[in-house]
Amino acid sequence: MLESNAHAPVATREEFAQNVLIPPGELLADLRSAHPRSPGCLAGFFDEMERAAAGWQPLPMIVAAVGASGPIDQQWFDTIVVSMADSLETLLASGPVDGVFLSLHGAAIATVDADPDGVLLATVRHIVGDHVPIAATLDLHGNVSAAMVAEADYLAAYLTNPHVDTHERGAECARALVRMMSSGTRPHRAFVKLPFIPPSVTQNTKAGPYGDIIAFGQTYVGRDVENVSVLSGFTLGDTPKAGMSIVVCARTADAARETAREVATRAWGDRARYVPRLTSLADATRMAVDVGRDPTLPPLLFADVADNAGGGGRANTVWILEAFHRAGVQGCTLGIFYDPVVAAQAHAAGVGAKLHVQFNAEETHPLSGKFAADAIVMQLHDGHFIGRRGIAAGHAIELGLCARLRCNGIDVIVVSVRQQAKDPVFLEALGVDIGAQRSLIIKSRGHFRAAFDEFFPDDRIIEVDVPGLTTPVLKNVPYRNIPRPLYPLDPDWGFTVGEPQMFAARSG
Ligand SMILES: [Zn+2]
Repeated sequence: MLESNAHAPVATREEFAQNVLIPPGELLADLRSAHPRSPGCLAGFFDEMERAAAGWQPLPMIVAAVGASGPIDQQWFDTIVVSMADSLETLLASGPVDGVFLSLHGAAIATVDADPDGVLLATVRHIVGDHVPIAATLDLHGNVSAAMVAEADYLAAYLTNPHVDTHERGAECARALVRMMSSGTRPHRAFVKLPFIPPSVTQNTKAGPYGDIIAFGQTYVGRDVENVSVLSGFTLGDTPKAGMSIVVCARTADAARETAREVATRAWGDRARYVPRLTSLADATRMAVDVGRDPTLPPLLFADVADNAGGGGRANTVWILEAFHRAGVQGCTLGIFYDPVVAAQAHAAGVGAKLHVQFNAEETHPLSGKFAADAIVMQLHDGHFIGRRGIAAGHAIELGLCARLRCNGIDVIVVSVRQQAKDPVFLEALGVDIGAQRSLIIKSRGHFRAAFDEFFPDDRIIEVDVPGLTTPVLKNVPYRNIPRPLYPLDPDWGFTVGEPQMFAARSG
């Protein structure tokens, strides 16, 4: 599982190893543990199979997952494909395989391959043949290719953003796989790719156009329609696969075709509603100064949406930190800042030590910037966390050595593994009383909303417009590989939704 930001550094084996890399021999123990490291879809699939298919025999393959990074190193990707193929071929040599589940993201690119998710599905299909059903989950930021829809029998993308239904979508795939294995029937699939990339911050599903279109799609589910997925896509993939995707799985070709066409037509008609509302850094700084000075004002959360590790950001841009520090902001905590050098320095110095800290001393990406400040080491942590709230609740997360550093009025939570601030535990475990803060700076595009909602309702969240690898200001992204014309980068050119691409049901 990987979401590839085309402009972020290459995702290496080392980065996967720091995040989630579980060989086949260790996977079942992880899935049976109280706090699995495996992705939510896989955990949800496994739990539902245990419930719905008692006596089933799970035959594990590899797990390799990074929330988001750059394109995956081709050699490392090939190694993963070979590992999966070896697992499957070994299993097939000793007996039949009845079905295959893949937990994919859908927005990976490799340094050579343009469609790694399609390659994974095609590899599995080639080995197991047409008669074995394949089901897969996709992130709703997946950039779907026709090959992916062709090779799978059943696809289920998340319906929520923040992604709080990953377990449920995995469970849905388990039920679909059981149904396919027992009935011998497979769904027809319909696929529409819209020439439209909605800016990332306009894709929340609680309210607004994207929530509306997903809800509209769900009104078709039942009777002949098994799944309606509306994938907004990942805007920063810079790939020929860019664009919103509608994928429908149904018992009849007509139901799949009609549903996909109607949902796609509604989605395209709604395109002008996806408008980001960002606050300038100058205005955000003024607001932070004010809430720091006046305790009667409600506290604010400043979202650094352009530096979201969950979209390939480095989690270390200094722009908001530098401006707030210079303005003398008080009562503020920044979570979480990726700087293994500073974290190690804080651990070596110990709690209470006074340091002069050079943030990003070894970072080379120009969008990250440099920042130096006097700091006091307030608290240290070994980096083993169990998610408390939000998209990673209940899952084990490793952030390496962590430290809380006080830089005048701003406490900075420094971590050693690049990660987005998707759980309040990252702050709380380092001694931050979130409810007592006057402001937070949170490096995340949107998943933080499912985690920090108990402290910050939507009207106290300020999305700040600063530079970064995950900027939602699309005109600032140096695109080279996306198809054109593409809305909203290009004004309307008279596009209308045509016939969906159809993929006929295989025979069981
Ligand atoms: Zn996503």
